[in-house]
Amino acid sequence: MQYVSTRAAASAAASSSQQFSDILLGGLAPDGGLYLPTEYPQVTGAELDKWRQLSYADLAYEILRKFATDIPEADLRALTAKTYTKEVYCNARKGEKASQITPLRVLEEREDGARLVLQALSNGPTLAFKDMAMQLLGNLFEYTLAKHDAQLNIFGATSGDTGSAAEYAMRGKKGIRVFMLSPHKKMSAFQTAQMFSLQDPNIFNIAVEGVFDDCQDMVKAVSNDLPFKAKQKIGTVNSINWARVVAQVVYYFRGYLSATTSNDQKVSFTVPSGNFGNICAGHIARMMGLPIDKLVAATNENDVLDEFFRTGVYRVRKSAETYHTSSPSMDISKASNFERFVYDLVGRDGDRTRALFQKVETHGGFDLSGKPGSDGDEFKLVAKYGFKSGKSTHQDRLNTIRDVSDDYGITIDTHTADGIKVARENMEAGVTMIVLETALAAKFNETILDALGVDAERPAGFENIEALPQKFVVMPADVEKMKAYIAANTGL
Ligand SMILES: *Cc1c(COP(=O)(O)O)cnc(C)c1O
Repeated sequence: MQYVSTRAAASAAASSSQQFSDILLGGLAPDGGLYLPTEYPQVTGAELDKWRQLSYADLAYEILRKFATDIPEADLRALTAKTYTKEVYCNARKGEKASQITPLRVLEEREDGARLVLQALSNGPTLAFKDMAMQLLGNLFEYTLAKHDAQLNIFGATSGDTGSAAEYAMRGKKGIRVFMLSPHKKMSAFQTAQMFSLQDPNIFNIAVEGVFDDCQDMVKAVSNDLPFKAKQKIGTVNSINWARVVAQVVYYFRGYLSATTSNDQKVSFTVPSGNFGNICAGHIARMMGLPIDKLVAATNENDVLDEFFRTGVYRVRKSAETYHTSSPSMDISKASNFERFVYDLVGRDGDRTRALFQKVETHGGFDLSGKPGSDGDEFKLVAKYGFKSGKSTHQDRLNTIRDVSDDYGITIDTHTADGIKVARENMEAGVTMIVLETALAAKFNETILDALGVDAERPAGFENIEALPQKFVVMPADVEKMKAYIAANTGL
């Protein structure tokens, strides 16, 4: 399996292609594009039938081996078996069902055959779906680095979910250190405790005196110093990482296979979306031949994606137009994985894709509506790819959290609430609608308290997390001091 950049010129595509392990540790392609396989591997009906019985780890192996063809099969099987275990993914919710790793729960069955189903993806160590891919990434990184006797120093900024998922995936891993910046005293007590209570010597929590944007600016400044970056072996684990996307493909297959008994049954997915990483994996599953009917992107007030799927206009937002909402992990100004879908939408034309995303840089977006003066008319093909969308506001979240509690007796988190709100608007007769649960309510307790008047339940093991000893340093937003701190701790 070969990979190309979404911006590769047709003439260069063949010569610049790479293998899975080549792109595993990197981020963007050198031309600024994102990596995709030259073609999507196809899955047959016979394979789907066989896969119905598999454990999550075995299913992950079957799917990954189609993409990571340069990793020996026995090694890949060992990596998936080590990653997708009860011990890692059943911490938050114990029990028979939880051992399925991503169990389904039917919320509603209507007389017309429509069903509303929740797929749990948040039982991992940080109580959010990012653990599904990040834990595999930790093991893949360790494996690949050991093969080349190499080291990697992950440097990033977080306002919550991504940073903690990365730290829990990389803690104790040989050859890897994590330097994670977060805005000092700006995260919730729960999120702070989750990250800062890690005592592993390879995890460095750096609380920056400033806001999240200051943290991100420091990451950019350090990454732009190419000699420093090379010497210190700096890397990232952001949402455009291809291995993260592939790992997420697996739970779409698991969800479909668990919700159906034969391959002619229809299933749609609603996905709480921000950077388009999660739903991009659904798109890839569908392109591989998984019988997904609709892929519904649910956004919050930051509705960049909903606007595109309604109108064909992609318009990124400025910082001042990006709202801080009660589903904060979806507060984005542009959707960093969206380019992967646009590449498919414009017929896998790298030259077109490059021109469109250069226009994002120069003009803040592009228009594929087909109207006079637009950049193309491919919006008319969006339905062919199954995409739909919807939007949810703070008031919708409160109402949905209350409804779901009243109707089904469970407490959902704010991001999942955006999903359920939009899913309900897109239910169809005879079709199962699976909503992906992206976090547990305990992580966003303030809003739960507003909606229900009671605290969200804390999963076992998290009761006193704020009282645990914390390990972190406080630093000013000073790039030179940051570089000195990194160098002192890597010894490179
Ligand atoms: C990251 C995240 C999302 C958004 O996922 P994308 O892949 O960025 O679209 C939604 N909900 C939660 C809880 C998240 O952490």
